[in-house]
Amino acid sequence: MNSASPTETSTSNFIRDTVIEDLNSGKYGGRVHTRFPPEPNGYLHIGHAKSICLNFGLAAEFGGKCNLRFDDTNPSKEETEYVDSIKENIRWLGFNWEDRLFYASDYFEQLYEWAVQLIQAGKAYVCDLSAEEMRVYRGTLTEPGKESPYRNRTSEENLDLFQRMRAGEFPDGARTLRSKIDMASPNLNMRDPVMYRILHAEHHRTGDKWCIYPMYDFTHGQSDSIERITHSLCTLEFEDHRPLYDWYVEQLGIYHPQQIEFDRLNLTYTVLSKRKLLTLVKEGYVRGWDDPRMPTLAGIRRRGYTPEAIRNFCNSIGLSKTNGTLELSLLEHHVREDLNVRAPRAMAVLRPLRVVIDNYPENQVEMMEAVNNPEDASMGTRSVPFSRELYIEQDDFREDPPKQYFRLAPGREVRLRYGYFITCKGIVKDETTGEVVELRCTYDPATRGGNAPDGRKVKSTIHWVSAKHAVDAEVRLYDYLFDRPNPNEEGIPFTSFLNPNSLEVLKGCKLEPCLADAPALSRFQFERLGYFCVDSDSASGSPVFNRTVALRDTWAKIEKRGKGDQ
Ligand code: ATP
Ligand code: MG
Repeated sequence: MNSASPTETSTSNFIRDTVIEDLNSGKYGGRVHTRFPPEPNGYLHIGHAKSICLNFGLAAEFGGKCNLRFDDTNPSKEETEYVDSIKENIRWLGFNWEDRLFYASDYFEQLYEWAVQLIQAGKAYVCDLSAEEMRVYRGTLTEPGKESPYRNRTSEENLDLFQRMRAGEFPDGARTLRSKIDMASPNLNMRDPVMYRILHAEHHRTGDKWCIYPMYDFTHGQSDSIERITHSLCTLEFEDHRPLYDWYVEQLGIYHPQQIEFDRLNLTYTVLSKRKLLTLVKEGYVRGWDDPRMPTLAGIRRRGYTPEAIRNFCNSIGLSKTNGTLELSLLEHHVREDLNVRAPRAMAVLRPLRVVIDNYPENQVEMMEAVNNPEDASMGTRSVPFSRELYIEQDDFREDPPKQYFRLAPGREVRLRYGYFITCKGIVKDETTGEVVELRCTYDPATRGGNAPDGRKVKSTIHWVSAKHAVDAEVRLYDYLFDRPNPNEEGIPFTSFLNPNSLEVLKGCKLEPCLADAPALSRFQFERLGYFCVDSDSASGSPVFNRTVALRDTWAKIEKRGKGDQ
């Protein structure tokens, strides 16, 4: 069974409705058996998560099974590294294929026999046309195709040639095995599609056993059939292949699963194509498949996204019969919602400004009680050291505050979260640059914990870290990978739309001491700044954090308006 919570049922959709109908009519004897069929030619991305959640989710909901099947029919692009990462990503998402791990390559012998069966039945032939010739013969959407001059070879000749193709007698591309369907079909996929091609290439599992490989279309339906899949769910681009899927299983007279298509997930500001993602990795635009800016599951995991957030997102978006594009911010919304209840709070200062509290005793340290998660009392409290020298965010101070700026400024009093009220009494500037390098403040000892006994109010609460207790850290801030919602424009390389500011590395950030040894991938909300996750590059004592997602920044809006006023 799935380990994902059974309460996470997907929203109603037409595929779920079909499954329910089939269960009611007893079409598959009450069985629900799906599969997730990745090709191991890259890492999984968030689009695959939609398919994984759908396939494993439906099986879980209806007490069925879901297989993991590697669709490994293209030896030149496939690698074991991808197989391993795909398995790891699916497990991480919370799904389990139990003992049902399959490879299309396990069926090569059976597929070969089925090809022979079609040859014997006069439904397949060996064709000597080159790829280029075949394209010409194929015709277009408006013109019928032309029959291959090799179409009427006898079964004996076809069988002989096919066996010799397998035996390695011919070079790559010299011949193909094609099904004999209809060169005038309005559906181009039915115009004698190729079933087998010659490819003298090492396969990641079968080694050099084969030098002919079955095409996807000749593999997929039969693999589904062998595994007795009930509902074969795939994306819309396969809709035009369904007649061929059906044709093969019918001609072979084998168990017939039902293929049903749904829309591909597309998101703004990113690309969801393994080919494009591979380009980003191979050409060094990102640090690897698991770069936190990548939409790969490995990337967003490293970024700090949770499996729960991804599943909630996938279950909420529904299915459609037309492709569209969803806002990336919708995914981020689910990440925030999930981390809000899950992530402990901590204080961190990303761009530190030193504050000295002149009337606070030197060498005194007080432990202040801080709430770990206001959404969840069971997460308890922790102690945060407070002392005479602190860091605050540079942005939380303005020498000349604009109208609606309520944070620290000369002469102004603010609250330090879980600390005291402090008032800015003086500024120390760098003599050469004029930059503010230190604030001299006083505190009101009566305001411990953040309330004034005389009831006086402050308009702002800011976060801080005690200077001598602070842990130095590197923090990586991420922005969208592309600079526009749709980087897929006809005729323009998608890489020209990469956002040059997608990564900002901040060194010398100051963290609350509890974060010193946070394990890799643990997630926190840094108060007022966003959600952050310990990077896998992190080492004990010098942590590295990734910003998972910012908090909604209402200040940014106010500031923009404020600037407009001036
Ligand atoms: P890509 O174009 O990124 O290479 P693909 O469809 O070739 O994707 P596969 O490994 O063949 O990738 O996909 C495995 C399964 O995941 C297929 O059933 C496919 O339909 C589904 N899938 C792939 N991309 C998406 C997506 N963006 N949205 C929903 N499902 C997807
Ligand atoms: Mg594919």
